[in-house]
Amino acid sequence: MSEHGRWRDVARAAGLLDRVGGTLRSTIFAEMTALAGRTGAVNLGQGFPDVDGPESVREAAVEALRAGANQYAPGDGIPALREAVASHQRRHYGLEVDPGSQVLVTTGATEAIAATVLALAGPGDEVLTLEPYYDSYAAVIAMVGATHTTAPLRATPDGFRLDEDALRAAFSARTRIVLLNTPHNPTGAVLERAELELVAALAREHDAVVVTDEVYEHLTFDGATHVPVATLPGMAERTVTISSAGKTFSFTGWKVGWLHGPAPIVDAIRTVKQFLTYTSGAPFQPAVAFALTDEGVRAWVAELAESLATRRDLLCEGLEAAGFAVVRPRGTYFVLADASAHLERHSLPDGAALCRALPGLAGVVGVPVGAFTRPGSAADEAMRPYVRFTFVKREPVLHEAIARLAALV
Ligand code: PMP
Ligand code: GLN
Repeated sequence: MSEHGRWRDVARAAGLLDRVGGTLRSTIFAEMTALAGRTGAVNLGQGFPDVDGPESVREAAVEALRAGANQYAPGDGIPALREAVASHQRRHYGLEVDPGSQVLVTTGATEAIAATVLALAGPGDEVLTLEPYYDSYAAVIAMVGATHTTAPLRATPDGFRLDEDALRAAFSARTRIVLLNTPHNPTGAVLERAELELVAALAREHDAVVVTDEVYEHLTFDGATHVPVATLPGMAERTVTISSAGKTFSFTGWKVGWLHGPAPIVDAIRTVKQFLTYTSGAPFQPAVAFALTDEGVRAWVAELAESLATRRDLLCEGLEAAGFAVVRPRGTYFVLADASAHLERHSLPDGAALCRALPGLAGVVGVPVGAFTRPGSAADEAMRPYVRFTFVKREPVLHEAIARLAALV
């Protein structure tokens, strides 16, 4: 037996492989970033900015390092950051959150999601997500042994929208968590108040907790407004709100996230979180507290959203000129492009095959939307020809990618 095969069996014995889909593999983002590295292709796959966030925020971290914030921070996060999260939620959304009992600082939104699902769901429970969904959701739902159910987002002339009947049908008496994401990766949908009100009504009816991943909360375009579920009537008492510094401030490598929710739920999540990482990012926490409260940084974030809208337009036009049909996103870093014309021309079965071929065909890397769907689902079938591209790159990089993609037609 090969070395790889041997360890594969060990992992299966530990119960991991069956639960995370039967394969030992890197995430699609790591795989596609490695492919770009090997081939010299322009990497429009993994979503990370190629320009860092504000200098003042970086300096705040340097200062904290120099001032000695280099040992364990408190498990809940430093008080200044918990207070900054509470004041951010009050200022932007009118939410009243107690920084002492209702806020937890986490290692990115990723840990907040994992700790929340671990704390609230287990075998026999259903966790309902939108589909397509951010890839870590499926993995963590599998790890806790819960059942993953989904409600599809469908492409419409008005962007990707929630299908009401399918959403209703996806709820059951076993639905424990509704794990939402708005603004939504990968579709770029910003869910509207009416859509969220329906989710909220169904969650109340089925006594489910709503967990909302709002990491792109400030990155919306064309006047689209982000509505946090916790602001809807009667929802603060059953909603866990998750966000992170990575996307808002362009420091994805810092991995400082947070969540807030009702104190008893936060207590349960804290109990889990302390055994995942206990704490992290000590010198980054004061810097993120500064970023969340500083006026100058707030203006920088607004400019980031504007510049992202411009870069979205640039990439969408380039993709259309290169024979893709795009669904215009109203938020996030991403646009979904229907590659049907190219699949036909090159006799390729799906977006995944195109993504593997794209460095050779055009010198560009994207991510197949099949990485965000469940094999065999209706959404999986509908999204089969789609590829996700990111526009959170400098304009010259986008121009280069567009020029290369033009070779496809
Ligand atoms: N949720 C969504 C929807 C994301 O796109 C990402 C990745 N950027 C994350 C969570 C993870 O966030 P973090 O890097 O803060 O862990
Ligand atoms: N959130 C980023 C994306 O969707 C990637 C994060 C990661 O590499 N896990 O591209």
